[in-house]
Amino acid sequence: MLYLLDRRGGLHVLPHEAGDSVSKVLLTHGIPPTSVLVYRDTDESIISDNAPLDTDALYTARLIEGYDLPGILNLYQPELAGDAGLASDATLLLKRRLSIAPDGSLTMERHSLDPAAAAAHVEETVFSTIDTFSLLEDTPDLVIGISGGVDSGSLLMLLSAYRDRFPDHRLTIRAATFQDFDSRCSEAFGFAARIAERFDVEHHLVEADAAERVFHLTRPIAQILMLMMEGEDAHQAMYVDHHSTRRVLEDFATAQGSSTLALGLHTTDLLAGLVNSWSSGHAMGPIPVRPVGDYRYVLPLAFVPKRELHLYYTEQMGHLPKQTTPNQWEFNPGDRNFLYFLADQLQWQWPGIQHWMFASHTRRTDAHPVFRICENCGGATREIIGAPVWTGLCDVCIVLDKHGWVRKS
Ligand SMILES: [Zn+2]
Repeated sequence: MLYLLDRRGGLHVLPHEAGDSVSKVLLTHGIPPTSVLVYRDTDESIISDNAPLDTDALYTARLIEGYDLPGILNLYQPELAGDAGLASDATLLLKRRLSIAPDGSLTMERHSLDPAAAAAHVEETVFSTIDTFSLLEDTPDLVIGISGGVDSGSLLMLLSAYRDRFPDHRLTIRAATFQDFDSRCSEAFGFAARIAERFDVEHHLVEADAAERVFHLTRPIAQILMLMMEGEDAHQAMYVDHHSTRRVLEDFATAQGSSTLALGLHTTDLLAGLVNSWSSGHAMGPIPVRPVGDYRYVLPLAFVPKRELHLYYTEQMGHLPKQTTPNQWEFNPGDRNFLYFLADQLQWQWPGIQHWMFASHTRRTDAHPVFRICENCGGATREIIGAPVWTGLCDVCIVLDKHGWVRKS
């Protein structure tokens, strides 16, 4: 039997099965293993996290941190213990939000949403993000990159819904699919075109050779990405893929006379980015609108968690999104995956955390950053204190140049 001894001397039984490890039992009851030391009562020996518990012995997990763990765990009681009264219907999404009052008191709010209500909630969240942060102020037209996936597809649907709800804005939306590695190897392009047509948004194909032109490449970008995956710079392939796609979209926007780009980054993407920024010291632009050189990037999905976006997409399309196999560089290396895992943990423990974190991050972020323009691709790079000396090329062009993939003019 395992007991939790709290800091007020209270003993709480932690039921478990024979052979369960110490940390499995603690985690099942919502207790971080790092907050306790577990002792066998007979000889006061310390039991390690991975040790299986003997059902005949008595153990005490002593809370070593001086906080009210039972009080905090009460916030999660319905999820930990099961509460059929809250949302017994499997078609309901339980939306939670942890509120912190000005006096410091905590409450967990819970609302059940059926799929239609969840979709309406996503729309209201996006419309209110657009209005609160003036995302589209003085913006008659914008470009969105659409891959055919859930995030960019949902963004297109939501911006189309916004345009229809507020016709006075006279917003022109142009969707563009860059025919890079992803779209050529899947049915994504045709699918992106069908979504755009269905939601009445003009759709353009940006040919694969646009990257060769913008980056002065000696070979197609798809080949370059595959070559990178085989060498020592494999961990940079995803960054090169994302940067080249964004830069090609900027080039497309300029040709259309537009300077606003909308990206389908949602809460989990941005929280993972923030955790990366805190741990690595990399600068990250403000949320949900950021200047990047001559362009303005808007992030209308910033306050929509991935789970809600998935439900929105399903409700709009009438079917579940197709699960596509991630690119090689999305599963490797592991650090990006770990950041997403942490971002999900944070949202689970603190639903609504994005509203606090994004606002405080934006307040602390330089409102007038200095940008340097890459002499090869023309992309803007934020000046970062302590970064290596600027050589005239952005990080991506440095890698491309190192391998001899940039044409010398
Ligand atoms: Zn560059």
